Amino acid sequence: MQYIRGLAKPESEECFLCAAARATAEDERRARLVLWTSENSVVVINLFPYTNGHLLISPKAHKADMEELTEPEILDMQQQTIACVKLLKRAISPQGFNIGINLGRCAGAGLPGHVHQHVVPRWAGDVNFMTVLGDVRVVPEAADKLWEELMRVRNQTG
Ligand SMILES: [Zn+2]
Repeated sequence: MQYIRGLAKPESEECFLCAAARATAEDERRARLVLWTSENSVVVINLFPYTNGHLLISPKAHKADMEELTEPEILDMQQQTIACVKLLKRAISPQGFNIGINLGRCAGAGLPGHVHQHVVPRWAGDVNFMTVLGDVRVVPEAADKLWEELMRVRNQTG
């Protein structure tokens, strides 16, 4: 668990998205909350979620800005974003979504060096919930449980 917490530190020397994109072993992918990788992207559960089920889609390449992305990277990131929406709808039935990219620390980017798109599932009333809890962090055990559930739903056919 300390290992997982260490990965999440913004000041951590290693880029956690690059590490996630490189992870191939099942146990390492699980520890890094990797849901899947596509040709150009990696999809992970955000350990610092705005709401339960908050996912991140990132190009595998370590690029800081959107204008550095190639067309295949842009297309793939959007395709994986849609796949995230579909998966979350099946798994946890959100009532809505916020989808977007924070560029630069002043815009709220926790990891300015590696561009990533947020998919934040929303439910009526969740804003109040998050306001009350303020600086809430999901415990690693809960993130692991969500990983397990999303992998289970993703592997279901139909
Ligand atoms: Zn990176």
